[in-house]
Amino acid sequence: MKVARFLNDGNLSVGVVDADAGCIHAVDPKFTNVVDLIRITASGVKLDSPGTAPVKLDQVRLLAPIVPDRNVFCVGKNYRDHAREFSHSGFEAGAVRGQEIDDYPAIFTKPPSAIVGPGATVELHPEATSAVDYEAELAVVIGRSGRNIPEEDAMDHVWGYTIVNDVTARDRQRNHKQWFAGKGLDTFCPMGPWIVTADEIDPDNLDIECRVNGELRQKANTRDLIFKIPQLISAISAGLTLQAGDIIATGTPAGVGIGFDPPRFLKSGDRVEISISGIGTLSNPFG
Ligand code: MG
Repeated sequence: MKVARFLNDGNLSVGVVDADAGCIHAVDPKFTNVVDLIRITASGVKLDSPGTAPVKLDQVRLLAPIVPDRNVFCVGKNYRDHAREFSHSGFEAGAVRGQEIDDYPAIFTKPPSAIVGPGATVELHPEATSAVDYEAELAVVIGRSGRNIPEEDAMDHVWGYTIVNDVTARDRQRNHKQWFAGKGLDTFCPMGPWIVTADEIDPDNLDIECRVNGELRQKANTRDLIFKIPQLISAISAGLTLQAGDIIATGTPAGVGIGFDPPRFLKSGDRVEISISGIGTLSNPFG
């Protein structure tokens, strides 16, 4: 099941997408918030058939499928080739050659105010940065809450998956040392186009690709994650209660703009498209 949030004639709805038919069915109108739908369905309740006519996807405006109550959890340096390119780029504060791979996952957050939907323009913030970069990432959506979740139980807490572009101001990431200042700017967390429920996805074998203006920049498979999803859930939930609707962005593969010499930062008019097999494509213009 692909679950999206959308505007149709100004009305906000949650719907189930039929991607093959190119249409969306609104669910029960009491759901305008995907977190409520996650809580209900994670407890085993099936969605009633809405009984409403499907609407063509090209007639609606898709929004970010979820805006959680609190920050998006993110993982840094979780593909080997990317950890290496980041360390060698000059944009990682405190980088030590030969020690690119960490013993523990690097965990940081982005505020909900950074979240925008598919097709929304990502601001370049020229007053704050001149080094905006893209990061294609698989994101996990938590369904069942929990604290101190052991790895062997972790996947029971996953409700679904979506795509996140972990947009980053590299100069601010380097200068402020901790990453929030470079990662948390308004519009720096494009998300979507929808959430695919966990029953339809093998998260350990997903092709992930990122294109800038049609040029392939990142191409990898989630089997190459250093810290796998159960390890991430276990690490993040240690002493911290994960809640239904929480998002965990799992890290980006090699091929970001700072991996080039000289770096290739985003400029006004660029379009970044991230595709993950089994999910879809998240496309956003920058300006
Ligand atoms: Mg990232």
